Amino acid sequence: MYLFLPLRCLRTLRFDGNSFLFDATRPSSVTPWSSWLGQIYRYGSSVWRSVTLPVGTMGKESNLRKLSRSSAFPFQSIEEVVVTLDLTDELSMSGDERLRENGISEKYETEMLAPETRRRLSQEIAEINDLALSTAVYDLDQGTSQAGGHVLPVLEDMVVDSGAYINLGTEVVGLHQELVPSGKLEWIVRSHNEIRGTEYLAFQKVILAAPWYPATLEVHAELEQQPQELEYRQRHVTFFTSQLALSSDLFGSEDKLPNQILPTMIAESDKLHGIHEIAFVRELTRVIDGKAITDHLYRILSVHEIDDEFLSSLFNNDQDNPSWVYKGSVSILESLNKLLVNSCLQVRHAYPLLYPRTLFPPMALSDSLWHAGALEAVASSLDMSLFAGANVGALAFAQIKKEQA
Ligand SMILES: Cc1cc2nc3c(=O)[nH]c(=O)nc-3n(C[C@H](O)[C@H](O)[C@H](O)COP(=O)(O)OP(=O)(O)OC[C@H]3O[C@@H](n4cnc5c(N)ncnc54)[C@H](O)[C@@H]3O)c2cc1C
Repeated sequence: MYLFLPLRCLRTLRFDGNSFLFDATRPSSVTPWSSWLGQIYRYGSSVWRSVTLPVGTMGKESNLRKLSRSSAFPFQSIEEVVVTLDLTDELSMSGDERLRENGISEKYETEMLAPETRRRLSQEIAEINDLALSTAVYDLDQGTSQAGGHVLPVLEDMVVDSGAYINLGTEVVGLHQELVPSGKLEWIVRSHNEIRGTEYLAFQKVILAAPWYPATLEVHAELEQQPQELEYRQRHVTFFTSQLALSSDLFGSEDKLPNQILPTMIAESDKLHGIHEIAFVRELTRVIDGKAITDHLYRILSVHEIDDEFLSSLFNNDQDNPSWVYKGSVSILESLNKLLVNSCLQVRHAYPLLYPRTLFPPMALSDSLWHAGALEAVASSLDMSLFAGANVGALAFAQIKKEQA
């Protein structure tokens, strides 16, 4: 269920604040010969070395999907998962080390790979482990890009099928254990809801299915293992629409811009500083008075909030562009031509820091508390979270069966 969809053909440009460095077409299987020759002229053997770099690691990572059928399932610790996937070396080695071992040049690293790890993980190559690097290099080679998909209805169907009750708009703020009249210890979950205020609910077993931050969720109990906080890096995601294509003037070019622009080595004073990607996502057609109007949907991934002035400059300060409404679903686009509205979604805990490591946070904290979010110390993807949920769910189920026997 990977959402970074391989596009049939993605033209991607590197921009260093002054000029376009390189125009690459991906996936590599459709890269024209002229583009290969240009890349080889600029980067030498790093071009083909980077294609082979992630192959072994991605092969091992793909075994994640088979893991819930392995005889060792469910796993008590992340270390066991890592050993079973044979990813110990890949998680303990740094991305830098892997690049040097594979003979990738610094120029290729700076111009081709670093923009991809910033876009994909919000991290620099020097910070990440080999698994994270290999995933980014693989995505680069495949030309994967967040082109949107239909994951929401799939997830909603899974919730309906599970029969689970979801308490929306409610923040869990505390967990502690209390002796209940039956003489058993139960978890008292304290939560806050805007309308209902503070609520307390008792549970026998609890699974934390999100990152754990001690500042916002207090856990008071005698535990075999304490949950561990993971560090995350925030990201701003800005979507906007326009009937015009992006102006190439800002990039000092007269050519039509490609689908994806990855700024690289941008000076702090430059307008593009802190922007990790400007991408055309897709076309959206709406019908107004029987007339079909097509908008272009764009996305910016950035470290900071994108202001209206910058967005306007992408369309040569045209008064009517961008035009946009964001209400979680692009199907509710309305006519907004005169309005300069942009919506910037701040994902505070967007990307876990994926530095080289040999020790991982615990998943099983006691015989009644589990932490599925701990698996984000290995990788952050829907596949990983699905596996994490299945694993801790199976651990809880096994414990309940044991207690009932
Ligand atoms: C910009 C971006 C793009 C991504 N694109 C992809 C992609 O294309 N493909 C892919 O596989 N992965 C992608 N990922 C990674 C993917 O989104 C995550 O791996 C996945 O969402 C993790 O799922 P989860 O259920 O473990 O946690 P989350 O999706 O983070 O869900 C946790 C939920 O718990 C809630 N929560 C947290 N604390 C509390 C609390 N105290 N009380 C109540 N509720 C709480 C949160 O609000 C959230 O709804 C992307 C991530 C980002 C940031």
